[in-house]
Amino acid sequence: MSSSSSESLAELHWQHDLLGSIEVGLAVLDHQYNVQVWNQFMENHSGVLPSDIREKCLFDFFPEIEKDWFKAKAESVFNLNSAAFIIWEQRPYLFKFATNRPITSASDTMYQNITLFPLASLSDKVEQICLVVYDVTDEAINKKAIEGLNKKLEHISRVDGLTGLYNRRYWEEQFEREYKRLKRSGQEASVLMLDIDHFKKVNDTHGHPAGDYIIQTLAKIIQTAIRETDIAGRYGGEEFALLLPYTNGENARIVGERIRKLAERFVPVYEEKEIPFTVSIGICEFNASFDTHMGWLEKADQALYQSKESGRNTVTLI
Ligand code: GH3
Ligand code: MG
Ligand code: MG
Repeated sequence: MSSSSSESLAELHWQHDLLGSIEVGLAVLDHQYNVQVWNQFMENHSGVLPSDIREKCLFDFFPEIEKDWFKAKAESVFNLNSAAFIIWEQRPYLFKFATNRPITSASDTMYQNITLFPLASLSDKVEQICLVVYDVTDEAINKKAIEGLNKKLEHISRVDGLTGLYNRRYWEEQFEREYKRLKRSGQEASVLMLDIDHFKKVNDTHGHPAGDYIIQTLAKIIQTAIRETDIAGRYGGEEFALLLPYTNGENARIVGERIRKLAERFVPVYEEKEIPFTVSIGICEFNASFDTHMGWLEKADQALYQSKESGRNTVTLI
């Protein structure tokens, strides 16, 4: 061992006492990956005593460390004399340490950020590297919680609270996106508009909550009648819009008829009262002549109007 490196080692041992109480892990490794320094933090979290691990190979004590991967990382520090980093987003941890956080917490393993410093001798040759292990469990848990929250918020912002279908804004966004795709691909697709018949009467006779229940019932019927790739939204109070990709008008009419019949036959019961209801449906198949997605939807709305005009409880394909 060169004198400079033993000096740096001695210095580290001296600092070791100071660093023993700090909340980061320190481990010094030589080029054979034998441990030279092992601080209190490492001892506390691994249960491995400095006297047991000193001059022993790190990998023999921590089989969770992927040897080839870690060596590749460390070799760059030895060879290039520059630091390297391992962040928890890449790998949650290097050493599998338990956390002392409550069991209810999101993680029972310590998330770690690791810095690998070169310890250079006077000749600039790196003979040892120093691993600094930061416990970033709180940061990681917070970040994951925020990510989870963002996902929930995203979901909430897309979905209608009463029915669980897409809300109008998000449905229209998807509709426009699909329309642009269809303009390029020329594939088949159809759009349906649905409106509950004489719904004002339902509200007037049975009350608004009963009306809400009918809206929810129809949403469930729609969900059972369509494919997973279909895009269903609550377009207005008791109006729904459906986009059926890969479906021509005639096939969309079959879907529309299925929904119409299910609605007609299924009689919801609300507060022990039977509340039969029907729906009117308008359908328009995609063709390349529409100027905008809203032009296409407008056609389906016209078809819906025709269904209403011709006595309701009807499907019209325009
Ligand atoms: P039509 O057959 O012509 O569609 O007759 P309608 O009575 O259904 O007429 P319209 O579609 O114009 O009326 C919709 C009614 O739906 C008006 C409104 O009071 C009611 N409505 C809208 N949103 C909701 C809602 O979220 N819950 C309930 N219960 N009622 C709603
Ligand atoms: Mg309406
Ligand atoms: Mg209506």
